[in-house]
Amino acid sequence: MTGDFQPQKAQLIMTLRGMGILDSRVLAALESVPRELFVPPALRHHSYENSSLPITYDQTISQPYVVARMTEALKLGGRELVLEIGCGSGYQSAILSHLCRRVYSMERVRPLLVDAENRLRDLRISNISFRFGDGSKGWPEAAPYDRIILTCGCDKIPDILLQQLKIGGIMVAPEGHGKAQSLVVVTRHETGFERVALMPVTFVPLIEGE
Ligand code: SAH
Repeated sequence: MTGDFQPQKAQLIMTLRGMGILDSRVLAALESVPRELFVPPALRHHSYENSSLPITYDQTISQPYVVARMTEALKLGGRELVLEIGCGSGYQSAILSHLCRRVYSMERVRPLLVDAENRLRDLRISNISFRFGDGSKGWPEAAPYDRIILTCGCDKIPDILLQQLKIGGIMVAPEGHGKAQSLVVVTRHETGFERVALMPVTFVPLIEGE
C-alpha cells in the first residue's frame, strides 16, 4: 500500500531537506511512517504534499515541515520519555515513537484517540501510551519527562506542563493569541527556563477541560 506513494514521499523528503531539515534520523522517521494512513481516505492523494490537512472533529494533521521542525527541535537521542499533548491522528506520535524510548500521548477528543490507537497498533508501534483527557494538566503519574511537545496552540504554556519537564529537558510548543502563534522551544536549566522562538505557526487551539 505504502509503495504507491513512494515518488511523492521521496519528493517530500527532498523538499524538507531543501527547507533546512538536516537531521537524518528525523528525515528517516518521516520516510518510514505512512502518512496516507493518518489522513481521511478522501484526501489520501494529498498525503505527501507539504501541507496540513483536515481530519475529523475540526482538527488537523500538522504540516510535514512543522512536524519535522518540532521533532528536530526536541533533539531526541533514542532514550527519552516524551509527553505529547494533542494526539490527533497519531501521526506526530508515530514519528516520535521511532526516535525515543516511549511516548505518552494525550487527546481530549475520545474518538480521535481511539482511531489513533488502532492505527498505531496496526502499524505495530508499541512504545506509545495513550490517555484520554485534558492535556493542559499533563500526565503527572509518568512525570517527569525528558521532552514535552504540545501540538495545539495555547496563549501561554501551562505552568503545570513546565513543571513536568526534567532539568535539562526540552519542550516545544505553539504559543500566542489566536492565529499569531510562535513555535517556542523551552529548555529547563537548574536555574530556570530558557526560551527561544523558532518560527510563526498556526495550530488549532488547546481547549481546557474535558
Ligand atoms: N499531532 C497531531 C495534530 C493534532 S491537532 C497529528 O499529528 O495529527 C491538535 C490536537 O490537540 C487535536 O486533536 C485536539 O483535539 C487536541 N487537543 C486540544 N486541546 C487539548 C487538550 N486540552 N488536551 C489534549 N488534547 C487537546
